Amino acid sequence: MNLLEGKKVLIFGIANKRSIAWGIAKTFHEHGAEIGFSYGIPQLERRVRPLAAQIGVEFVEICDVSSDDAIDALFAKAEAHFGQIDILIHSVAYAPREELTGKFLDTSREGFAQAMDISAYSLVALVRRAAPLMVDGGSIVCMTYYGAEKVVPHYNVMGVAKAALEATTRYLAAEMGEQNIRVNAISAGPIKTLSAAGIAGFRKMLKYTEERNPLRRNVSQEEVGRSALYLCSDLASGVTGEVIHVDAGYHILGMPEPVEEL
Ligand code: NAD
Repeated sequence: MNLLEGKKVLIFGIANKRSIAWGIAKTFHEHGAEIGFSYGIPQLERRVRPLAAQIGVEFVEICDVSSDDAIDALFAKAEAHFGQIDILIHSVAYAPREELTGKFLDTSREGFAQAMDISAYSLVALVRRAAPLMVDGGSIVCMTYYGAEKVVPHYNVMGVAKAALEATTRYLAAEMGEQNIRVNAISAGPIKTLSAAGIAGFRKMLKYTEERNPLRRNVSQEEVGRSALYLCSDLASGVTGEVIHVDAGYHILGMPEPVEEL
């Protein structure tokens, strides 16, 4: 079944084959979408272009989402290439590495501002430019994490930025509904990616959740991709402003027990 036949999709946040955005791109390609990629820094081009070629993506453009000029330039190119778009995927986050270790209390003013700008405000900035191109309505999905809701060791300022991103999702959903544009978030469980490697103790976190998750395993990029497919297809035509957990059930646990004691 081709759930995205004829749909035009812009995906922000592919860094390499481990990226969650790549899991989404592969799934959307399998379902007939026409896809464009945007990546954050020049050094990523040599990794992103071969991935694009694998699934026939022709539109591959750099865009630093902390720059309004860069975003304007990107959307001008997207309009020239696609005409209109139907789906936007925001899979972008950043906080300086030193903010993702040690104490939250030591968060710097600059680190806080940068994490909020790149990881949360950028959704507003992208949706403002995407909305005029979504002439037949559309679907927008961003990526969040449980550290927005509860304290997770070392996630620190990124947890605050994700809380802002989730609230941003709701505020945007409320305003964009008039244009039949839906805005949702996926709260993914931990997955080994380039960004995740910047969080102190991430490997231990993976093992911890693998042993305690109700499904007794972690989730994959492809599973996140399939939930994004649901949110961006007509299957979710009545869903907006939602945060869907794709975390093998971790968020339902009040007091996770070690598996051997169950
Ligand atoms: P990733 O490193 O593959 O992707 C993060 C992307 O953000 C990269 O492509 C990077 O280039 C991009 N980026 C950073 N700063 C940017 C900027 N200024 N302009 C443009 N792009 C910029 O890692 P990922 O884990 O696939 O992360 C994707 C999203 O998923 C992020 O929002 C992340 O917080 C979220 N997430 C990840 C996990 C996990 O465990 N990996 C869990 C839940 C949510």
